[in-house]
Amino acid sequence: MNKLLNSLSLWFDTSNTVDLPEKSKSIDIVRCLPYLFMHLACLGVFWVGVSPAAVILCLALYAMRVFALTAFYHRYFSHRAFKTSRVLQFIFAFVGASAAQRGPLWWAAHHRFHHKHSDTQLDHHSPSRKGFLHSHTLWFLESQNFATNEEYVKDFAKYPELVFLNRYDLVAPITLATLLYIAGGWQFVIWGFFISTVLVYQVTFLINSLAHVFGTRRYETADQSRNNWLLALLTFGEGWHNNHHYYPSSARQGFLWYQLDITYLILKLLSIFGLVWDLRSPSPEIIHAES
Ligand SMILES: [Zn+2]
Ligand SMILES: [Zn+2]
Repeated sequence: MNKLLNSLSLWFDTSNTVDLPEKSKSIDIVRCLPYLFMHLACLGVFWVGVSPAAVILCLALYAMRVFALTAFYHRYFSHRAFKTSRVLQFIFAFVGASAAQRGPLWWAAHHRFHHKHSDTQLDHHSPSRKGFLHSHTLWFLESQNFATNEEYVKDFAKYPELVFLNRYDLVAPITLATLLYIAGGWQFVIWGFFISTVLVYQVTFLINSLAHVFGTRRYETADQSRNNWLLALLTFGEGWHNNHHYYPSSARQGFLWYQLDITYLILKLLSIFGLVWDLRSPSPEIIHAES
């Protein structure tokens, strides 16, 4: 009973991991029910139907949240690839959290761990070590990966607003779903929240799974990372994953003129308005040093 209550409480308060067996590789089904429900709820489309406005909304929210995840959860919080203000940092942390992939500190801490141990036995989501499905989706359902290891994100854990958002990460997706309901009823919720979020899930997770399996390797990195143009298109630039593992702190992941990196283009645009600055990038010598 205690375990059940603990699993349920984790839906609302992610800091409540004290009772979890530290090294448990088992999947806590109760804890993961909201994630499963996200997928099932997409079937609601058979009740609410479709409209041009709902599809446009779905795509717009997909684009907004893919950008928040790639530019901020990944390049900013995980790699400090550029600088921004505390206000914008929180706004995009909130938009990123509305994609229901847990909080920014959890995400960044696990991602930094991935870069430290890429494709070794320690890597939490290596397809070459632990299988494709595990790297795609099962790894973050395991009890051992629920907690945020703040040791890995001390630099951002000093901001109380980020710690709060990370702890109560459900606030962001619930806010988005509520706003959608007010704006357009259940059709907007199904398309704008559930379908859009599940699409964002799948393309994000493909970077952990497919981008370590399928594609080309321009650089001989110690891991199995690949460049994949289709993934780069779907994820606004993250598919240049071999480039990224070669030079992780770069704000730009498409290194060559034909490697489209939409996130970087938007960041450049934001930098013109002074909203982000000090975008890091490798020198041409580093880019062209094909090893
Ligand atoms: Zn990787
Ligand atoms: Zn990374």
